[in-house]
Amino acid sequence: ASTASIPERNKSFATINSDDISYFNKVLGGRGVVQDEEKLDDANTDWMRKYKGSSKLMLQPRTTQEVSQILDYCNSRCLAVVPQGGNTSLVGGSIPVYDEVIINVGSMNNILSFDKVSGILVCEAGCILENLMSFLDNEGYIMPLDLGAKGSCQIGGNISTNAGGLRLLRYGSLHGSVLGLEVVLANGTVLDMLGTLRKDNTGYDLKHLFIGSEGSLGIVTKVSILTPPKLPSVNLAFLACEDYLSCQKILVEAKTKLGEILSAFEFLDINAMDLVLKQLDGLRDPLPSSKHNFYVLIETTGSMESHDKEKLEAFLAQAIESGLLTDGVVAQDINQASSFWRIREGVPEALLKEGAVYKYDLSLPPEKIYDLVEEMRQRLGTAANVVAYGHLGDGNLHLNISTPQYDDNILAKIEPFVYEWTSKQRGSISAEHGIGLMKANKLHYSNSAETVQVMAAIKKVLDPSGILNPYKVLPTSVLSQS
Ligand code: FAD
Repeated sequence: ASTASIPERNKSFATINSDDISYFNKVLGGRGVVQDEEKLDDANTDWMRKYKGSSKLMLQPRTTQEVSQILDYCNSRCLAVVPQGGNTSLVGGSIPVYDEVIINVGSMNNILSFDKVSGILVCEAGCILENLMSFLDNEGYIMPLDLGAKGSCQIGGNISTNAGGLRLLRYGSLHGSVLGLEVVLANGTVLDMLGTLRKDNTGYDLKHLFIGSEGSLGIVTKVSILTPPKLPSVNLAFLACEDYLSCQKILVEAKTKLGEILSAFEFLDINAMDLVLKQLDGLRDPLPSSKHNFYVLIETTGSMESHDKEKLEAFLAQAIESGLLTDGVVAQDINQASSFWRIREGVPEALLKEGAVYKYDLSLPPEKIYDLVEEMRQRLGTAANVVAYGHLGDGNLHLNISTPQYDDNILAKIEPFVYEWTSKQRGSISAEHGIGLMKANKLHYSNSAETVQVMAAIKKVLDPSGILNPYKVLPTSVLSQS
């Protein structure tokens, strides 16, 4: 069941007919024109099983030229399309709302070049993140981003959502590491911006428009990205704090005492921890002697094992002595480190197993983050389980409210409260997941009316008929005015 207030189908969009299918078969050489109901059912349903579209057609092009021909045709026929990657969107961004044609570039999954000196990788947009990670591992490099959905999400989807994830603290956002893109516009025009230069100040840097625009301005077909070297010494500590203030203090201490080797700082509260241990098989509490209110994962990555270990141990000893940490353990090998990460990365999956989830992905001043969680618990009482975790080092809270099933009375207690609260702090209602369908009408909580108008004007220029990912990102009311 969807909880979004879904706009009506735009009547100016055509519906597919047999001539369209014949055309697509011709362009794709008879392959990658999917009308099979089972396959379409998966592509019509989002990862959370919250949103469901009714598309009758998915296209799987293999070249930029094919993407261009498809879009040119759809634009002239006024057929709406939804670009889809690994379909791991958490905001209903990747599924059709009605009968939009799904375009998935998953078959465009070639690595085009890798420069071992600069670390610059050029690949097609359908490459799965985890496959890129494995490729780079052999070359002595890593991807600048990592996230729980790595086994399914595509780099084109990551770029289109400006995905953050676990490494942003160290390597920054994709706006920094993406050096170039190839994008196909709604009318089929191919924009070759596939530069591999670190420095290039030649006019407006248009690639940034497509990073985070969630398939609403064009389809990303190729990517050039700067990747960091793989460093030999990686350590991971799983730590416990009794209160949220201690988590913040530990963050400040970690930034100053661990300095350049700090590579991740994640947190989860006791509700998140209990849920993961209950729902996911084979996981054990790394700190079993007692329960704690908060858990923090600190990762260090550096070039010299002895130096990094010494630094980490001194930092931990001091934090325990000063009472900021009540317990902690450092992973002894890669398997233990993976099991620690599995706890943090497994929270979304554990939540899904509980039933319905109301998901909020907020950027807030770090000192305010847990105030919201506590207020939400007070509002909802025993009607829901309020679970908090996220990328504390980036000021990013994942606030999740879990109930056995979707319930409009619960929703009315959560929204608009959560958005108003965030807006009052000048926070962001979407730190990293995007706007999608879920928040298209909520954009004003984080953006001024003038800003939203400019966004709508850009959309009009690049996609005048509005065929690309309709009903998402921008409020339909604003688009119909501009
Ligand atoms: P999809 O979900 O298929 O699409 C996402 C959006 O991008 C849609 O609007 C779609 O239209 C558009 N799109 C997809 N491909 C293209 C393309 N080639 N060109 C143009 N538009 C395109 N996000 C984070 O930022 N950090 C996290 O830590 C994180 N963890 C996650 C953990 C789990 C378990 C899950 C399920 C999701 C998580 N996410 C996280 C959400 C995140 O947005 C995605 O996982 C990922 O970036 C989306 O990639 P995808 O290929 O699945 O794209």
